[in-house]
Amino acid sequence: MKRKFFLKVLGFSIISSFFFPVNLILAASKKILNQNLTDEQKRIMFNEGTERPFSSPLNKEKRKGFYHCANCGAKLFASTSKFDSGTGWPSFSEALPDAFITKVDNSFGIARTEYRCANCGVHHGHVFIDGPKKEGKRFCNNGLCLIFKPDN
Ligand SMILES: [Zn+2]
Repeated sequence: MKRKFFLKVLGFSIISSFFFPVNLILAASKKILNQNLTDEQKRIMFNEGTERPFSSPLNKEKRKGFYHCANCGAKLFASTSKFDSGTGWPSFSEALPDAFITKVDNSFGIARTEYRCANCGVHHGHVFIDGPKKEGKRFCNNGLCLIFKPDN
């Protein structure tokens, strides 16, 4: 009886690992939480895409407030860390504590550090070490992944 149950469980886990490889499970863990996301936002956030440089209205945003994840709404950056990097993407010298998880991305033959929202797992951009402050960080973020909420 017990042995039969064990075999059943074993059989199930073999079958399920065949149908749900690990990377599929990881991809599935990123969920669309904002039902109003556009196809372009989904392409960037769920398939590690990049928006056209100088296309984001957030490049010119200078008001005080916070930048949130467009998918889950988590607070990611304070406006005080934003600076004009001249690259064409909204740029920040630091993120709020524990806002992101990072991962080395070797696409295009160069090692870059990709970062993702720590709360919902979607792609936001890459972080470089040529930033303006002492810590030297430059978070190069797709504007489409962010929602700006001004203080009032
Ligand atoms: Zn998020």
